[in-house]
Amino acid sequence: MAFKQLEIIEPILKAITEEGYTTPTPIQEQAIPLVLQRKDLLGCAQTGTGKTAAFAIPVLQILHEQKPMAPGIKVLILTPTRELAIQINESFAAYGRHTGIRHTVIFGGVSQLQQTNALKRGVDVLIATPGRLLDLMNQGFISLRSLQLFVLDEADRMLDMGFIHDVKRVITKLPPKRQTLFFSATMPPEIQKLANALLTDPAKVEVTPPSTTVEKIQQSLYYVSKQEKPGLLLHLLKDPAISTALVFTRTKHGANKVVKIFDRAGVSSAAIHGNKSQTARQKALSDFKNGKLRVLVATDIAARGIDIDELAHVFNFDLPDVPETYVHRIGRTGRAGNAGTAISFCSGEERTELKDIQKLIGFSIPLVEEHPFTANADVTTVQAPVQRPPQHSFKRGRNFRTNKSRTGNHNGRKYSSQRSGSR
Ligand code: AMP
Repeated sequence: MAFKQLEIIEPILKAITEEGYTTPTPIQEQAIPLVLQRKDLLGCAQTGTGKTAAFAIPVLQILHEQKPMAPGIKVLILTPTRELAIQINESFAAYGRHTGIRHTVIFGGVSQLQQTNALKRGVDVLIATPGRLLDLMNQGFISLRSLQLFVLDEADRMLDMGFIHDVKRVITKLPPKRQTLFFSATMPPEIQKLANALLTDPAKVEVTPPSTTVEKIQQSLYYVSKQEKPGLLLHLLKDPAISTALVFTRTKHGANKVVKIFDRAGVSSAAIHGNKSQTARQKALSDFKNGKLRVLVATDIAARGIDIDELAHVFNFDLPDVPETYVHRIGRTGRAGNAGTAISFCSGEERTELKDIQKLIGFSIPLVEEHPFTANADVTTVQAPVQRPPQHSFKRGRNFRTNKSRTGNHNGRKYSSQRSGSR
C-alpha cells in the first residue's frame, strides 16, 4: 500500500515523500483513515512503530481542510517526556512543512519565555508535557476552549512516571465535544479505565512491532548484591563485542554514581535523567548515537522516547518497579530485526520486582549461575509462576556460546535455566 491510497492531501504527501517514506507502517495504514473519519481511537503501539506519523499526518490534514482556520489551539498532544515532545514537534515540522499549520512544543526544565512567546504568536497544534502545560494554563497563557482534537500519547508511561493525576487534571479542562486519540503500549487496568472514560465508541488499532517481542531478545539474569553491581557491570563490559550499551538505573543518583564508576574505569559514558539540563541530555544522546560514548546511563523517565537505532545491549542495573517497564526497556534493543541482548541484575532486595516481571513475561529469565560476584548475591531463585518457554530459537544456556562472533563469550559465564530452591 502507498500513502496515496490513504487519501492524503498533496502538501502532506509531498512532505512525506521528501522524508523518504514510501509505504505506511501498519499502524499508519490502520489509524490514518480512522482519524480522518473523525473517529476516536484506541491505539496499542509503542515508539518505533511509526505511531507519531499515524496521528500527526491526519491531524495536519484535518486542520488543513479547515483553512482559513479560526484562531486558538485546536489540537493538544500530551506526551510524558521532553524528548518525546521534541520528537513529535519535529514530526509536525517535517510532515506539515507545506501546510502552514502552526505548532509549538512546551516542556518543563527550561525557561518558559520562548514558549510563552510562541503561544502569544498563535498556534494550531500544541505539544506538551503535563506539568508545564498545567503551569502555563494556570498562568493564563493557554486556553483550550477551541480544542477539537486531543491526543494522549504513551498513556501507560504517564502512569509509570506518576503523571496520571496531572493528565486527569488536564482532561477536566478539555471541551467535552472533541475527538480523542489514545495511545498506550500496554493496557494495565488503570489505563483501560482512563481510556473508557475518555473515548467514545473508539476504533481499536493494535500493533506489536516484531522487533520488540520479548521472546526475540536474548535475556539473562545475574544474582548479585547491590554493592557488587558496579563491579559486575565493569566485568561484563570487558567484552569488546559490547560496543554500545544502554544501562538503566532506578534513580538519578544511581545513574550519576554509575557514570562516576565508569569515569574511574576509563569507560566513556554519560547519564541522562530529569536533573540534567535539556542541552546536556541532547548532547549525551548525540554523543552516544555517533559513537563518542560507549555507555549511556539512563533512568526510565529520561530514556522514554529515545530513538536509537542498532542498540545491541541493554543492562538493567536495577530492576524496574513496574513490570511493564522491563518490556519497554529491553524493547530498545533488537529493533528492526537485529539481535538484541538484555542483561538484568537482581539483588536480594529486588526479588519482588523479579517475580512480577517473570509473571508478566510468562517465563523465568535464564540465569547466569557462574560469575565472579556470586558469593554475596543472597537471592533465592525466583521462578516464574507459569513456565512458558520463549517462543523463538533461543535455547537457554547455549545461545551465547554459539553466537561468539557477535557477543563473545561474555567472559566465560555459564548459562542455565533457573531451578527452584535456594542459592
Ligand atoms: P515513531 O514510532 O513515531 O517514534 O517512529 C519511529 C521511526 O520511524 C521514526 O524515526 C520515523 O521517522 C520513522 N517512520 C515513521 N513512519 C515511517 C514510514 N512510513 N516509513 C519509514 N519510516 C517511518
